[in-house]
Amino acid sequence: MLIVPFADGPALIWHFGMTGELICAGADEPPVAHDRVVLTLDDERQLRYRDQRKLQGIRLTMDQSALARVLDRLGPDALDMTREDFVDLLAERRGAVKGVLMDQSLIAGLGNLLSDEILWRARVAPRRPARALGNTEARHVFTAMRGVLATASRAGCVPPRRNWLTGHRDDREPACPRCGRGLRARRVAGRRTVWCEHCQH
Ligand SMILES: [Zn+2]
Repeated sequence: MLIVPFADGPALIWHFGMTGELICAGADEPPVAHDRVVLTLDDERQLRYRDQRKLQGIRLTMDQSALARVLDRLGPDALDMTREDFVDLLAERRGAVKGVLMDQSLIAGLGNLLSDEILWRARVAPRRPARALGNTEARHVFTAMRGVLATASRAGCVPPRRNWLTGHRDDREPACPRCGRGLRARRVAGRRTVWCEHCQH
């Protein structure tokens, strides 16, 4: 989420989901079909919220306490967690590790693509109970999370690189970019989940 506070109290909260983005456009550029919200900044410039999917959500909170209520429902930002806190969190949860990564009340900021990419890189199967992971495995998940987030943050999305899982998950016959074997796809934690049975245990 991107939080834009105004000086006198209200704040705009932008949620981008998998495909949303903010575009700075000239006021004379015609809007495209996926421009969901257009904010006119001055005579020449517009800020446009563009999303191929449905509008994911823009919220306006009217004061600090309303903003705090929204943020209170979120766990710590994934990039702010220490390795120790992360390992301890996994050790306490009996649900599937994929579901723990995506639970925004536990860790904020990881969606479906990111979680699959992280677990593929860490070689951990998404359906494993989080607390069944060994200490070394949990550390590998943490390291993978940091690496994937660093690259994805710079790219502004989860980049569909050919040496990433994300670059293959929508292929007609998706194959693991590490071992070349076919990828599995099932619903885990309510979302379409892709993983490699050979590489991830
Ligand atoms: Zn593989």
